[in-house]
Amino acid sequence: MNRTIIRNAIVLSMDKDIGEHLDADVLIDGTKIAAVGPNLGPVDAHEIDGKGSIVLPGFVDTHRHTWQCLLRNAAADWSLAQYFGGVRGVMGGLYTPDDMYVGNYIGALEALDAGITTLVDWSHNNNSPDHSDMAVKGLMDSGIRGVFAYGNANKEWFPISDLPMDLEDVARVRKRYFSSDDGLCTMALAPRGIQFATVEQTLREQECARELNLPITVHAGDGLWGLNRPVEQMYRLGLCGPRTTYVHCSALDDDEFQLIADTGGTVSIAAEVELNMGHGNPATLSSLKHGIRPSISIDICTSVGGDMFTQIRILMAATRGVVNAEALKARKLLDPLPLTARDMLDFATLQGARTANLDHKTGSLTPGKDADLLIINTDSLNMFPINNPVGVVIEDAHVGNIDSVFVRGRAVKRHGKLVDVDVKALRRRMETAVDGLFDRAGVPRDGNWLPKPYTGGTDAES
Ligand SMILES: [Zn+2]
Repeated sequence: MNRTIIRNAIVLSMDKDIGEHLDADVLIDGTKIAAVGPNLGPVDAHEIDGKGSIVLPGFVDTHRHTWQCLLRNAAADWSLAQYFGGVRGVMGGLYTPDDMYVGNYIGALEALDAGITTLVDWSHNNNSPDHSDMAVKGLMDSGIRGVFAYGNANKEWFPISDLPMDLEDVARVRKRYFSSDDGLCTMALAPRGIQFATVEQTLREQECARELNLPITVHAGDGLWGLNRPVEQMYRLGLCGPRTTYVHCSALDDDEFQLIADTGGTVSIAAEVELNMGHGNPATLSSLKHGIRPSISIDICTSVGGDMFTQIRILMAATRGVVNAEALKARKLLDPLPLTARDMLDFATLQGARTANLDHKTGSLTPGKDADLLIINTDSLNMFPINNPVGVVIEDAHVGNIDSVFVRGRAVKRHGKLVDVDVKALRRRMETAVDGLFDRAGVPRDGNWLPKPYTGGTDAES
């Protein structure tokens, strides 16, 4: 018997036709969701009592530099220019292939533990074929639904770079690991884009994506580097297309959002990093104004936590905060508030799946889709009484409330713990890798490292 039924749960399906239920069942048959609805009746299946729990689709993080989790929170007080100096100028080039494995494997497990069932691994430290092999292996070994977004080597990231990307290795990785687009892990290309590379190199990288039939995810509109109208430049070069994700978008102009909308592109917002590091305000309302429903991303665990709840909360408050401040200044009453908790859950699930080009497989509890879902326990003091099920997920829940996580029908977390994962052993492996990395870098690991800012490619005075 390979069927599981979750009984009598609050179900937030994120499927418009199925909607929300205060008391419903979810039937998983093998890898798929088979049925969702009140009282599915007797079924020959393993039973999970969902009473008092909330069942919803797994979260989708549409942009995370997973390899950086070895540098966890080294950058709490770094600007974007210091990040370039510290991560690119010092650490990236010192990573060994094994460091890439440790980062991707443990980073992806951290995401799974936090209810992120789909992760766009924005892998941009592929310094040799061994590095890319180990990054792919780490992602695949974790059991997450991953999109390996192949990005440039460390040395190619100093703007404006004319160094060529190793496109032979991109083709090799495509053929060796991702010859099918139907696996649990799939592939995308993560080129530097017009902010970081010359036009010649940008055209070369995007041509490679076309040849290998890979979707594209590209940074656009982040901070001082994003003020060169990157989307308009891409559009003029014929590079805007329907399978392109624009990451951040904080510094884009209004007409650039229209270009994204007109060409069917998607948007990924990483609000906490954007606000802390000076990318600009989150592009939520600018996207919505042009009919683009954005997705949410964590970006870098070098400076922020790896869970989706925090990002949802910061994005909602930051977006409302801008409009509230404008209303206050104009002595106006804002009613209704822009954005709802339901919008936020949509961004974190279904819109994430759409952005990752995986909405035919995941992002909602729709029969026929793969069973990627969460069971959130509401027995903790922070979770009851439940007067607004969507609201309690958006504003109150944390990683510790996640009882279970399923990916493609497989339980990867049960009863609050990752299944078959020895966290103590992982910590030992991580500590050994990080000791080596900081030793090679010759920088302190005590919170007092402030790298020299890198401002190449901008007209900033420093
Ligand atoms: Zn990024």
